[in-house]
Amino acid sequence: MKKELFGLSLIELQELLVAAGLKKFRAAQVYQWLYQKSVTAFDQMRNLSKADIAILEANFTLLPQQLKILREQVSQDDLTRKVLLEFPDGNSVETVLMRHDYGYSVCVSSQVGCDMGCAFCASGLSGCIRNLTAAEILAQVYIFNSMLVGEGKQVSRIVVMGSGEPMLNFDAVIGALQFLHRENTLYMSYRNMTISTCGIIPGIEKLTQLGLPINLAISLHAAEPELRTELMPVNKGFPFQDVIQAAEAYVGYTGRQVTYEYILIAGKNDSPVAAELLANHLRFKHASVNLIPANPVPEKGFERPSKKVVEAFLKVLQKHKINATVRREMGKDIDAACGQLRARFAQEQQD
Ligand code: SF4
Repeated sequence: MKKELFGLSLIELQELLVAAGLKKFRAAQVYQWLYQKSVTAFDQMRNLSKADIAILEANFTLLPQQLKILREQVSQDDLTRKVLLEFPDGNSVETVLMRHDYGYSVCVSSQVGCDMGCAFCASGLSGCIRNLTAAEILAQVYIFNSMLVGEGKQVSRIVVMGSGEPMLNFDAVIGALQFLHRENTLYMSYRNMTISTCGIIPGIEKLTQLGLPINLAISLHAAEPELRTELMPVNKGFPFQDVIQAAEAYVGYTGRQVTYEYILIAGKNDSPVAAELLANHLRFKHASVNLIPANPVPEKGFERPSKKVVEAFLKVLQKHKINATVRREMGKDIDAACGQLRARFAQEQQD
């Protein structure tokens, strides 16, 4: 059976290639093609001999080459590209490429599905099927990099905010981020990486102990206990007040500002009173609030509030001197909310 090479360290790669009969220096060349030039096939590695390529193809596989793009959606403004990627075992996840003024970012998934059951999210509709490996997380970045490389561009930011709860797959997520930070891969700064959690406190604490300047985002979405539990059942085990405290420890240790994500759902959590509650909890914290007008999730019956309501909410936060912005709407015309594309695809397969 062929062995998978993608995501191995240089030393692991050297060992496998030497065992297959290749010279040791070939490993550094293959490594560079894979992780700096974002090539996804052995026969594109132009400084390898035909004989060496034949050995590689006979003995090894490369995950990005085996990924199937089941669906692809590009927003009308061409700034957002979302793909549904199928892994060799038949499981699929969503990955999104976004073009900003400052470069390209990729929003990756960390699990197939999710167990957290957030009421507004399509990713949790059928629970968590499995964790992704570090290589599968990396492959989501490199599949886009391989598309950009022809234009002389590459992904410069990663956000772990797709399907899954990253803190419940901590080692693989951190392994992937540390890999991207290496000088002989993308050499991506930790400051360009964001992990978004629904509030798994042990995960926040582990991240704090690592002491890396990774951006931490917390999905809050309500600052009233009952409503938060209704929207995010994780609140029962990890009440948001404790989550904010854990995030404060993160700020103290890393100096990084924490971002609180707040999806505004019409008639649920978008009133001025809800904004006052939120302000009470975040006042004087080294934090910013990212307000996200909800993407309608037809399966859940959630609607987006009007512009006026969003502005009124923002004003309350600003009155309390809380650094808050309304997220620029990217990819509104595609199934932009996490898990929607995968859920729709699954539904179509059943029909
Ligand atoms: S919002 Fe995130 S944590 Fe909640 S169910 Fe969806 S993927 Fe899971």
